[in-house]
Amino acid sequence: MRVAFIGLGNMGGPMARNIALAGYDLTVFDLSPERTAEVTPLGAKPADSIVAAVTGADVVMTSLPNPKVIQAVATGTGGILAAMPKGSTWIELSTNNLDCERDVRGAANAAGIDFLDAPISGGIEGAALGSLTIMVGGEAEVFARHEALFNVIGGNVRHLGPHGAGYVAKIAQVVLCYLHSVALSEAMMLGVKGGVPADTMLSIIQNSTGRSYVADRYGPAILNGTYDPGFALGLAHKDMALTLELAKSVGATLPMCAQVELIYDQAVKKYGFDENHLMAVKLLEDANDMPLRSDTFVQS
Ligand code: NAD
Repeated sequence: MRVAFIGLGNMGGPMARNIALAGYDLTVFDLSPERTAEVTPLGAKPADSIVAAVTGADVVMTSLPNPKVIQAVATGTGGILAAMPKGSTWIELSTNNLDCERDVRGAANAAGIDFLDAPISGGIEGAALGSLTIMVGGEAEVFARHEALFNVIGGNVRHLGPHGAGYVAKIAQVVLCYLHSVALSEAMMLGVKGGVPADTMLSIIQNSTGRSYVADRYGPAILNGTYDPGFALGLAHKDMALTLELAKSVGATLPMCAQVELIYDQAVKKYGFDENHLMAVKLLEDANDMPLRSDTFVQS
């Protein structure tokens, strides 16, 4: 099976590395030559354009920043769909919206190409370990043909049903990451302002009913001030914007999501798109003139 991988960023890079290590005939392309150079030592062949990467591929996988880029990579000048062979499959791994899914799937199918939405969860660690959760929407038969490839990058691969189901599930679960991050920082701020040290507060939260993955995974990164460099603040805000868009299209009223989207929007405006996603916590620290810092925290 010849595989082409487009978009070798924080998530795409490690996924492509695992596909190369599994012995697939892999060609890769990213706008950034540095990103490409990180993958090619493991046997992936670099391409100098999207068209060169996908020509002759049985499967094309994309891991791209947002719906606009996905649309451009699909149908823009020099895009994948004009160059992919009839009968090949496009596996789209990004976090995306349903309008874009409908458009690009329609264009793919018109060109005789199968499409699966297959967004991922698990962060850069999950991508490196090949243990991602992958939420797949699309025809069962197309999914079955590519299950072995999915298992190279995922540890929890789920076919959820019709087209778009993957993107819906992805957005509905990832929103908790942002709600929890904001909630964690507010709870810690309350404790710290009330006189409890930040490290004590985190350890209490980790051992009480307020415990969450976010507290365990990101709490220490808040305390040591590194926040979390594996994911961009701008992409976190994109996810919150996609949440509100999805809520509107399915007729769901989600007041907390609306509030948290505003917080991420303000954080992007203040710190910039490329800063890391926990800078939303820094917004609260700045507003309270109180960093949630500890030099002595030891993860139990
Ligand atoms: P990233 O910004 O690190 O990577 C995106 C890559 O796409 C970059 O290397 C960029 O150069 C490349 N790119 C952009 N436009 C391109 C084009 N036209 N042609 C070729 N390459 C192009 O982002 P990421 O963190 O790897 O996230 C990728 C996707 O996965 C996003 O949709 C994100 O929301 C989602 N996601 C990220 C994480 C995470 O923890 N980082 C987790 C789950 C899902």
